[in-house]
Amino acid sequence: MAREIRGCGLHRNKSLHIIKTCRLLEEKYGGQVPEDPAVLQSLPGVGRKTANVVLNVAFGKPTFPVDTHIFRVARRLGLSSSSTPLRVEKDLTRLIPPAERGVWHHRLISFGRSTCSARNPKCHECTVNRYCRHSKKKVHHPDKEN
Ligand code: SF4
Repeated sequence: MAREIRGCGLHRNKSLHIIKTCRLLEEKYGGQVPEDPAVLQSLPGVGRKTANVVLNVAFGKPTFPVDTHIFRVARRLGLSSSSTPLRVEKDLTRLIPPAERGVWHHRLISFGRSTCSARNPKCHECTVNRYCRHSKKKVHHPDKEN
């Protein structure tokens, strides 16, 4: 299993969690993934973010999983000024309508990976840099001249 997911960080640990989770699903839940967030979070390696991903992607629930990319981008763009993933999640669920949370989750992750990376954000080609708190002093804003 570790070989199949070796492109992921911590692939050895993750593979053990996947195997244990599969066994538990088979033994306790009839081979079905439960739709209950508390049960999901009781599975090996599953925290709030992963449970929210499963609920959103597999069950169409209006959750908003916050990973490291979303946490960073939301704060840089002023969508949240909160200091924990849980509070950022609450801020984003207030801002983003339930039906749009899934697509916005993927948009923000993609933006965080491609443009707004942690160490080397591409601020000069960023289409939303005028709204950014993080780059205010570093980026030239043509529309703010004169
Ligand atoms: S301007 Fe830079 S730091 Fe701000 S959102 Fe864009 S890429 Fe990220």
